[in-house]
Parts: sequence; structure tokens; C-alpha cells
Amino acid sequence: MATKWMKTCNSCRFDNPEDSSKCNKCGVKIDKMDRDFVWRWFCPQCSGKNMGGNYTCFNCGFKRQKESGSNCFLTTTVCDILGKDDNCLTLSKMRAFRQNNLETNTDGRLLLKEYKEISSHIVPKILEDMNKVNLCRFLEQNYINPIIELIDSNQTESAISGYKCMVEFLLHKYKQPSP
Ligand SMILES: [Zn+2]
Ligand SMILES: [Zn+2]
Repeated sequence: MATKWMKTCNSCRFDNPEDSSKCNKCGVKIDKMDRDFVWRWFCPQCSGKNMGGNYTCFNCGFKRQKESGSNCFLTTTVCDILGKDDNCLTLSKMRAFRQNNLETNTDGRLLLKEYKEISSHIVPKILEDMNKVNLCRFLEQNYINPIIELIDSNQTESAISGYKCMVEFLLHKYKQPSP
């Protein structure tokens, strides 16, 4: 069962379709999460309205699907090779970013689906790379750390482009056809 998402206007509490950029009731712009609107989802089983961060319906206990796992395989692989653990700051921040900015909207979910596909090709190549530790240090310094800084300063779009650049770099390195 697919979960339907909506943007709840912070000014008037009206529930707008997930692709709205303006509130259909009071007309305010709803483009910035938390400031202008909050994500909520309709329970497909009982039509209960749930806060975006919750995975279980408050009313009937229905569990919505986590979108293609809650981890970024690529970043997880890099951190793993560098000996960082699963709860390190980098992975926690990436995970929160993913849950708040990508899993909650159609474009983000499409992107996650596409990148899940791509990482399933790239991750094995990284793992068998003789130079993987140096590669991962390079990725951390040139892509992952800057992305975390962008996440910290709420530059959502730039953080996403930074991630795309890292994927492009790896696709090029391992000569996978570009998506
Ligand atoms: Zn409104
Ligand atoms: Zn429910």
C-alpha cells in the first residue's frame, strides 16, 4: 500500500498535496520545511494523519514503508572502510537529512530509488578497489564533509547537488554508464 504525503500549512493547518508550492487555503508560500509547512502522511488503512517522522500510524498501528532502507549505502561503505561506526556523526546527519528532505517528497523518493540502483553497482567496485582507503579519505574530504557542512547550514539543494557530484565522480571513475 502506497503512502500518500501532504504538506500541512503552518499558517492555517490546511493539508495540501505533496507537490504544492503554495497553500491552497490561505495562499502562503510553502517551500521551506518546518518554517512554512510540516510533512504528514495519510494512513492507507484508516486515513489517520501522521507526522512525517513517524513510521507507525498513531491510530491503527499501520507501519509505513521506509523508503529503500534508511541508510545511504555509499556513505555507509565509505565510513565503514574508514573505520567509523554506524552511529558516527556523519552517518547520523546523512540519515536525518535523507529522512527529512528526501523520503518526504516525490522528487526525493525518485532520487533515492535511482541512487539505490547506482550504488548497488558502485559499492562492490569500491570494496574491491586496491586503493579504497585513500579513495574513501578523498571522498570524505572532498564530498562528504562539505555535504555535512551544507546540511548543517540548511542548504538543502546544494547538499543534494554535492551528493550528485560524488556519485558522478564515482560513476566516471568506475566507468558506469551515466543515469
Ligand atoms: Zn495555509
Ligand atoms: Zn492508520
